[in-house]
Amino acid sequence: MQEASTSLNLPPSLLIAVGGNAIHPEGIKGTPEEQMTVAAKAAEMLLPILELEQELIITHGNGPGVGKTILRQVLARHRVTPMSLDICVANTQGVTAYLLMQAFENALRNAGNPRHAIGLVTQVEVDPNDLAFTRPSKPIGYFYSQAEARSLEIEFGWTMAEDAGRGWRQVVPSPEPRHICDISLIEALASRGTIVIAGGGGGIPVVRDTRGIRHGIEAVIDKDLTSQHMANILGIEHMMILTSVSQVALNYGTQEERKLGEVSLSEIKQYQREGHFAAGSMGPKVEAAIRFMERGGKRVIIGHLEESLAALTGKAGTHIVLDS
Ligand code: ADP
Ligand code: MG
Repeated sequence: MQEASTSLNLPPSLLIAVGGNAIHPEGIKGTPEEQMTVAAKAAEMLLPILELEQELIITHGNGPGVGKTILRQVLARHRVTPMSLDICVANTQGVTAYLLMQAFENALRNAGNPRHAIGLVTQVEVDPNDLAFTRPSKPIGYFYSQAEARSLEIEFGWTMAEDAGRGWRQVVPSPEPRHICDISLIEALASRGTIVIAGGGGGIPVVRDTRGIRHGIEAVIDKDLTSQHMANILGIEHMMILTSVSQVALNYGTQEERKLGEVSLSEIKQYQREGHFAAGSMGPKVEAAIRFMERGGKRVIIGHLEESLAALTGKAGTHIVLDS
């Protein structure tokens, strides 16, 4: 392994959350070749970090992937029984972990590095009384016409909502992650130097009944919040959220847009109150960053997947740090 971790003064343990869009871009058709190529590109971009001698946990999103899984079963519903949402998340979690672990190990072997990467099936417990279950709010999957939306509501019992004039989408509850199942195994593997891929798609949502028995539940947990929770529980002090923009911006997408370099916790909280971070995209990342810092974190880096090493070493990205 490289000895860079000391010379670059890098953290001894790190959790990286990779965006669903970064590993399955909206624009691709999703052929096996495309998916392998995208995973290989992600591995190539992350290789300098995969090679560093540190505890490394990778979480990832699954938005575009799970959207396709759901559409597939809508289209095939008269021939094949559709799966529940927890099973859909388990599907995309498994597929993405497979692609990433293969791509990571191939990139490492190509560099002559014997390090292992393993994907774990991760259940995440949520509270069945979470208020999110009374008001589904997270749009998932594809857009439908109003007529299609009505029939899906009747057939599947889905809740559908109009999305900013773009059509109708399924909306699902997005409860808070309460407990990462098997977190001790994630820690055990990471501490022996294995790169652990876990918590994909925010984790498979489950609830535990009074007898301690777990059941899957129809929900989608925010992957940024699951990543934050996992990192805090493990005592990891550095978290990096990699997405499709290189920096967090104020007045995003306007003439007054201003990109943030280093920003303190109290500054970012102020910007959050002012409404700079869109719900469902940058909003959950900033919320996860704030929670992480308030529960023992030292630094959150939000940046572009293609600039991961530069971001980690302070040359790119937005860095959220404690108030001095
Ligand atoms: P991921 O798949 O990585 O979770 P998201 O699409 O959920 O990606 O979030 C990243 C997106 O957030 C960016 O592509 C950008 O369009 C959007 N975004 C919204 N508000 C902001 C902001 N204030 N600064 C930067 N990006 C923003
Ligand atoms: Mg997202």
